[in-house]
Amino acid sequence: MSAFRPSSPSIELIPALPGSYALLLHAAHEQLIEVGACGTLHILPGWYIYVGSALGPGGLRGRINHHLRLASRPHWHIDYLRRATELAAIWFEPSPARLEHLWAQSVAAQPGAQLPLPRFGASDCACAAHLFFFSASPTFSLGCCKVILDCCGAMVVL
Ligand SMILES: [Zn+2]
Repeated sequence: MSAFRPSSPSIELIPALPGSYALLLHAAHEQLIEVGACGTLHILPGWYIYVGSALGPGGLRGRINHHLRLASRPHWHIDYLRRATELAAIWFEPSPARLEHLWAQSVAAQPGAQLPLPRFGASDCACAAHLFFFSASPTFSLGCCKVILDCCGAMVVL
């Protein structure tokens, strides 16, 4: 379980604007979790990348603030996975366009990308899923801003 307690000023590094984002999550050990109506996800030790967008009120800042905490009542598919992993990094791009689908294609095309659960995060679009698994830490860049979280939850924008 994650214990990130980001200091309140650090969330201000994320603009409160519409945009798309990707989460890099680390799973330390094997687990089976239920992901709402999506099914059972067999979590393997390694790295997960989830892509999403936040185009409503609060924008990127509000949504990323949500992902920094652990949801007591999971709403999105990612909320279930988030409770079983550590958040290691966040990519974000302020834009009114839904870049999440382009990013899903981009991540899927990376060497070693696996599809752990069809339709995860992609109930309403043509993507196979918005979640990908890598057994080794991904080294590619999504070409947008990236926030790295240290073990205490402090944020640094790269
Ligand atoms: Zn999609």
